Amino acid sequence: MAVDYSNIKVIGFDADDTLWVNETYFREAEEEVGKLLSHYETPNKIDQELFKMEIKNLPTYGYGVKGFILSMIELAIELSNGTVSNTVLSKMLDIGKEMINKPIELLDGVPQVLKTLTKDYRLIVATKGDLLDQERKLEKSGLIDYFHHIEVLSEKQEVNYTKLLKHLDIKPAEFLMIGNSLKSDILPLINIGARAIHVPFHTTWEHEKVTKNDTNGLNFETVKSITEITSILG
Ligand SMILES: [Mg+2]
Repeated sequence: MAVDYSNIKVIGFDADDTLWVNETYFREAEEEVGKLLSHYETPNKIDQELFKMEIKNLPTYGYGVKGFILSMIELAIELSNGTVSNTVLSKMLDIGKEMINKPIELLDGVPQVLKTLTKDYRLIVATKGDLLDQERKLEKSGLIDYFHHIEVLSEKQEVNYTKLLKHLDIKPAEFLMIGNSLKSDILPLINIGARAIHVPFHTTWEHEKVTKNDTNGLNFETVKSITEITSILG
């Protein structure tokens, strides 16, 4: 079914892995953690346990690097029965700081797309994660002037988007969300009557994965690159 974008006034962009690279750094960090704790478990098991620890800690710390750092440390203490060395813990803190201080690597075509769309639409960012970290990334990205509003949400569920649209005084039918996560950037929007375009990134965090069943029959488009958005919108 063709998607009708004719009412769209405001376009929301996810940030991590939509505007710039993010998840890749987490994969690299997870690999480092596997090496640091290889004394206690196999890399596979460490990976699984780290994921479980992150999910367990989400309600406490929320999304983002800082929660990831605390989860790495908690896992190290747990897997080692409290015998892990300060050297290993320091290395984990370093991994986290390195993640936070990474330069911003914009995805292909992002500035051009924003530049074009900003002529006809109001653009906003709707991202999950740590407020300070996301603000810092936006500042470093050089993209901040394209956006009328930046919203850092603690969760990206229907209720969060509904609140955001109310706050921005726009109807769901006037809002288009663009992002890499089906779970966070697409499904909740379609469910509240907004539009959404999926731009997959090559790696997805386990927590963001959805089943085929979840997307069956939902009316949204998927594009290979964000650069396709301008022609889709006409
Ligand atoms: Mg994302």
